[in-house]
Amino acid sequence: MGGVTQGIRLVMLGRQGAGKGTQCVRVSRHYVVPHISTGDMLRAAVKADTEVGRKAKGFMDRGELLPDEVIVEVVDFQLNHSNTTHRGFILDGFPRTVPQAEALSGIVADRGGLDLVIDLEVPIPIVLERLAGRRVCVDCGTNYSVQEPPKNGWVCDHCGGDVVQRADDTEEAIKRRLDLYERETAPLIEWYEKAGLLVSVDGLGTADEVTERVVGAIDERTGRR
Ligand code: AMP
Repeated sequence: MGGVTQGIRLVMLGRQGAGKGTQCVRVSRHYVVPHISTGDMLRAAVKADTEVGRKAKGFMDRGELLPDEVIVEVVDFQLNHSNTTHRGFILDGFPRTVPQAEALSGIVADRGGLDLVIDLEVPIPIVLERLAGRRVCVDCGTNYSVQEPPKNGWVCDHCGGDVVQRADDTEEAIKRRLDLYERETAPLIEWYEKAGLLVSVDGLGTADEVTERVVGAIDERTGRR
């Protein structure tokens, strides 16, 4: 089986600011599978003022999680009723609670379950620093930072969209989301460990170094190397 042609069914866990978004984009190109970010999907839905977007906006602005049944329906549709995931997928930002993980097991059961779950580990002081400096393109979602801005002003290098600070990247909302992560999402790490699916990867270092570790972990787990 060729490394690049075989797909992958992956969940990426990690605190906000651990670099999940950046790594998921790179890994999705490597294995040629879609990167499904629930946060990006919801921000697009808010912008387009869809029914889901109208439900999501208040929760997102407050840095709270949407009710499990709302987000599970969105992901179920994306995985089972769109024709983009036949080679697999990378889930980013979902699941975030144990009930969401249980729902996901059901959603992917008839396609062989997940290959693995990666926990991208970055300590809290470092993610706080990263989140305060994070900037994002409002149109395509590309991540930038105060340290690594776009080439020309705050205009996206890829699509020309405005590059701004996320509404939920204020200090107060960041703190609430990190607390929520420890309370609701950290138990998932244990849950997936018990399920024999968890692989922890060190998220410190350059984006290239982390990608190399992530791809190495996936290839090892799926018997590609
Ligand atoms: P993110 O970009 O992943 O930090 O997501 C931004 C916001 O979208 C979160 O703070 C939540 O309000 C909402 N959200 C995204 N994914 C989920 C999920 N799996 N469960 C509940 N809410 C979510």
